[in-house]
Amino acid sequence: MESPCPVCARPMAADGEALRCEHCRRRYQPQALCPDCGQPLAVLKACGAVDYFCFHGDGLVSRKRIDWRYSAL
Ligand SMILES: [Zn+2]
Ligand SMILES: [Zn+2]
Repeated sequence: MESPCPVCARPMAADGEALRCEHCRRRYQPQALCPDCGQPLAVLKACGAVDYFCFHGDGLVSRKRIDWRYSAL
């Protein structure tokens, strides 16, 4: 996953389920939110692919549209 750090915008490295920014020396837990309703998305893993699904009526959400939130660990 290529995700910019929410603080310094540098790319973060995957660290298990979390992401790590070497620059800030912090770890963040990503949370996928629906861009339409703002609710957390369910993660569906199938055959190595990961899909994000909104159970609040918006259905499958393209990765490009996901509203990522990061909480510091
Ligand atoms: Zn950073
Ligand atoms: Zn939604």
